[in-house]
Amino acid sequence: MRKLIIFTDLDGTLIDHQSYSYSDAKKALKKISDDKIPLILVSSKTRAEIEAIRQDLKKDGFNINHPFIVENGSAIYIPRDYYDANLRMYANDANSINFCHPEFISGSHKILKPSNSAGRQVQNDKQNSNLNHFSIISKNQFQIIKISQVNYQDLIKILKEIEKQIDGKIIGFNNLTPQELSDECGLTIEAAKLAKKREFDEAFRIEPDEPELYNQVKKLIYEKGLNYTKGGRYAHIMGKQDKGLAVGILSKLYKKQFNNIRTIGIGDSRNDLEMLEVCDQGYLVANPKKPVDSTIISKKIHKLKEIGPKGFNKIVLKIISKS
Ligand SMILES: [Mg+2]
Repeated sequence: MRKLIIFTDLDGTLIDHQSYSYSDAKKALKKISDDKIPLILVSSKTRAEIEAIRQDLKKDGFNINHPFIVENGSAIYIPRDYYDANLRMYANDANSINFCHPEFISGSHKILKPSNSAGRQVQNDKQNSNLNHFSIISKNQFQIIKISQVNYQDLIKILKEIEKQIDGKIIGFNNLTPQELSDECGLTIEAAKLAKKREFDEAFRIEPDEPELYNQVKKLIYEKGLNYTKGGRYAHIMGKQDKGLAVGILSKLYKKQFNNIRTIGIGDSRNDLEMLEVCDQGYLVANPKKPVDSTIISKKIHKLKEIGPKGFNKIVLKIISKS
């Protein structure tokens, strides 16, 4: 039997876009927890924010002690000794993991050839070759696979340069106080402080809020050789990573562990499409405020009518009951 692995976005998917609550998904979370199904949280949120959500889940009695992916695929946090295999067995040197190792070449997840079906710029083979090695850091109770190769402060400088070239104002998380961030997205002050602890990717919005300005900025970011994506609320500038690449890497590790796996991806926004593509099945829950442009959604991705955690709850219970 294939081992079921579920990858999920947080904002607008497992947790409600407005209330930030996962209460509508509690039945599915209980089933996931009881059946010991790996549930991987994959978010644009920071490590600090995701750790807080893991704590909440734990307090509510859900056992979700699995790896998680932060800041749109910038790094993967793996609880120490989570996998039987030592990650370093694939390493060329003591501090990096080589995903071109023969162990990783076979299998259905082609992590080194990003798809362009989600509207992303296709990276050429030369650029892909830079993605073969990722450093591993051991810190506290985690082993961290660091995918991002760009410094956060450099991203802020680049955004400032780009702002000079457009007829608008770029407002990044670094420009906002916790109070301002709390006011504009409804987080508590404490949660806003955690949201500002960005390490790899900068979240921003543009004033005025016009699609044409976002397109201009996206183009300028690509020209700098960086990646752009857009979540439910904010756009993001980051290195050459995305959620799909990180999910592909974790899928490889699960395949080593369980041999036969079935991966499910659930999201709600443009920045989830690469993740959904790389899974065996992808599901897009409804986001009535910011529906994803239907022209960039591939046939492989199923759209659900239910919004956020209600959609998550329904599809997860359905998949588990049939597996
Ligand atoms: Mg989302």
